[in-house]
Amino acid sequence: MSKVLFWVVIILAVLLVSRLLARQAVRRRADAPRRQRRGAPPARPQAMVQCAHCGVHLPATDAVKSQGRNWCSPEHARLGPR
Ligand SMILES: [Zn+2]
Repeated sequence: MSKVLFWVVIILAVLLVSRLLARQAVRRRADAPRRQRRGAPPARPQAMVQCAHCGVHLPATDAVKSQGRNWCSPEHARLGPR
């Protein structure tokens, strides 16, 4: 009988600990965006341009500008529009 009681106590303890851990994980997830808002400045939306050759979108600051168009690489600027 005491063996059964022992296992019941063990199972209840495991359930209690797992519930506490789950609640902590939820709380941590809920805190994360708040912490982000408090910390780093909000990311500014970046202007995106499209490569005239392959059509890939990339930040305007990374684009190669040539012949009045935007390109993802000097190679595609050389190949020209498609
Ligand atoms: Zn390209």
